[in-house]
Amino acid sequence: MTLDTAMPRTNLLGLTREEMEAFFVSLGEKKFRAAQVMKWIHHEGCDDFESMTNLSKALRTRLEELAEVRGPRVVYEGASEDGTRKWVLEVEDGSYVETVLIPAEGGKRRTLCVSSQVGCSLDCSFCSTGKQGFQRNLTSAEVIGQVWVASNSFGARRDSTNRPVTNVVMMGMGEPLMNYNAVVPAMKLMLDDNGYGLSKRRVTLSTSGVVPMIDKLGDELDVSLAVSLHAANDELRNELVPLNRKYDIATLLDACRRYLAKCDDTRMLTIEYTLIKDVNDQQRHAQELATLLGDLPCKINLIPFNPFPHSGYEKPSRNQVMRFQQWLEELGHTAPVRMTRGDDIDAACGQLVGRVKDRTKRHERYIQSIQLDAD
Ligand code: SAH
Ligand code: SF4
Repeated sequence: MTLDTAMPRTNLLGLTREEMEAFFVSLGEKKFRAAQVMKWIHHEGCDDFESMTNLSKALRTRLEELAEVRGPRVVYEGASEDGTRKWVLEVEDGSYVETVLIPAEGGKRRTLCVSSQVGCSLDCSFCSTGKQGFQRNLTSAEVIGQVWVASNSFGARRDSTNRPVTNVVMMGMGEPLMNYNAVVPAMKLMLDDNGYGLSKRRVTLSTSGVVPMIDKLGDELDVSLAVSLHAANDELRNELVPLNRKYDIATLLDACRRYLAKCDDTRMLTIEYTLIKDVNDQQRHAQELATLLGDLPCKINLIPFNPFPHSGYEKPSRNQVMRFQQWLEELGHTAPVRMTRGDDIDAACGQLVGRVKDRTKRHERYIQSIQLDAD
């Protein structure tokens, strides 16, 4: 009997510049090959070594044997009337994740909302991703693969004058700081000139408050930080974001202050606040929030709750959202309302991949109940 001893091929898509250099050095090649191949992959969208014409024929043949450029498979691509695009991607093992591209400022800004995990273990009470439980972490290739797929869909070669994706927010499925080892390399690729060349202010990591990882992130990167607060007292936040029982609000805001202090430029924290009818949308909540945040340099993003079946919560009226915004502004806080976009393709926050059919089955294998919309 012969055993198949073929080594798995290295997927170059998720390698940072340092990792790519180490890979070429291990082949006895010069380090600069890394930049050449990264440009083919991330600037040209190329997944075929044969087309990488500035590499010798011998090196191309070797790469074909040892390596690959493998992105997620596009299962569904949808475009909404407001210009929002959405992809459902199949990652290894047949799981699905979702990526959404949201245009703004007449198409000058295009923000990609990237997922970090299949499902999420943190079980926030108002989040449909939380309802599916945790399935697995994405690899760095699967995280950056979302930026790659979205950029490739615009066809043309990209460089500093042509960026199909101008901003990235890690606000898709999953908690990015629970998948630190894949998310950080992927974010390094977003920032790298041979990758996507985005400025650190245009790459935002959103967290529900994994305090030790906020500190760790601050030692390595200074991307923009968004924190999902949703409540200004521990009693209510414990209910909405169970992770608060481990890291309470004061501990979380201290970590945010430390993070901002490590950035070498003046930085604002983004506070995400999902407004849920009669739960956290009253005047006393606005007052409590304004007092809590005090003079912390931040802006508050108000996100009207996106309902999904059996969530047990309701969306506040438009008037109530406007009132809440006004209360905060009167108390000296900037509080833009993040409008729901792409509703017609289910691209709105908290509606990723599918819909929860039955709240009582929240930890069942959610993927079995997904309905890929617009089929
Ligand atoms: N896990 C990270 C990032 C993904 S969630 C985090 O929690 O920050 C991205 C944002 O969408 C978070 O602020 C989250 O609280 C919010 N969100 C989740 N479900 C929502 C819903 N149904 N309606 C509105 N916002 C929601
Ligand atoms: Fe996870 Fe974020 Fe959803 Fe909470 S809001 S369950 S942390 S994805």
